[in-house]
Amino acid sequence: MNTKIMETILQKIKEYDSIMLFRHIRSDGDCIGATKGFKRIIELSWPQKKVYLIDDEVVRYLDFMGPDDDDVADDVYKQSLGIVLDTASESRISNQKYKLCKELIKIDHHIPLENYGDYAWVEEERASCCEMIVHFYNTFKDQLELDSLGATHLYTGMVTDTGRFKYSGVNGDTLRNAAILLDIGVDTDILYARLYLEAYEYLKFKAHIYQRMQITPNGVAYIYIDRAMQEEFNLSLEQASACIGNLDSIRGCISWLAFIETGDEKGSIRVRLRSRFVHINSIAEKYNGGGHACASGATVYSREEVDALLHDADTLIKEYKETHEEWL
Ligand code: AMP
Repeated sequence: MNTKIMETILQKIKEYDSIMLFRHIRSDGDCIGATKGFKRIIELSWPQKKVYLIDDEVVRYLDFMGPDDDDVADDVYKQSLGIVLDTASESRISNQKYKLCKELIKIDHHIPLENYGDYAWVEEERASCCEMIVHFYNTFKDQLELDSLGATHLYTGMVTDTGRFKYSGVNGDTLRNAAILLDIGVDTDILYARLYLEAYEYLKFKAHIYQRMQITPNGVAYIYIDRAMQEEFNLSLEQASACIGNLDSIRGCISWLAFIETGDEKGSIRVRLRSRFVHINSIAEKYNGGGHACASGATVYSREEVDALLHDADTLIKEYKETHEEWL
């Protein structure tokens, strides 16, 4: 069904000598893995082409995936094909110089809030954007090359975006695509050590989260992380935001949220929304956000808005629990 757009993308890559890859702000394993993995595929398949990945965001827990490229002159952008991966809307593209590119392609697996670019390949049922890139590689494997470095980038994106193949979006295709990467060669021992090991201090922060977390009347678990808490535990915004992962296994709490004060001049509070069984993205969309059915992000600007969002989430969960039986 999507073969035609994939053929167009392959054709466009062939047409250009210079290709630039872009991803979303607040980078995660999937957008880093997809951009680095796709870059590797293009470089190995057409060594004469120039492929740039320019992004100045630092994501410490994914440092092991290696640095990006230094910025280049605007003229290079102007003669390049731009490919944006894993990014639903234009405002979330981290390197805004993508606008200079001669043509633009969107490759994404989020619920499409808007379309942008000259060509868009969107498959929201895919568990990760990396899975789309593996599918692309496998479809055209007579013309494309992939080695174990590229496979490791893509596998990292797949495991991080699926909760280690746990989330409901994972299907047979996900595992077949992951198998292709394992066959090429991924050292999973070192990868999981890099992803799982935590600093002693971070475990102390975790203990603090479990002390402080709260639950709304109908079972939305949440935590509010203010600036003082981030300073007390010497956490970057990214480390503080990772706390969402600690609220995911409470029986009866089918949605869980983290509010993280960003400390920016607008007083914005990052909201991370997660759920099982029930879809939570409508709440994110109401509060300046979006994302996936069960994993979304939003932004609010005051404690009043925090309370309003919590109230909306609680109402949603109440309705869901009243009308469904198979949840826990
Ligand atoms: P986060 O909790 O920020 O990791 O967000 C969860 C998912 O929702 C990720 O796939 C994000 O890319 C996506 N997301 C977060 N914020 C937004 C937004 N404002 N608009 C669209 N998607 C978003």
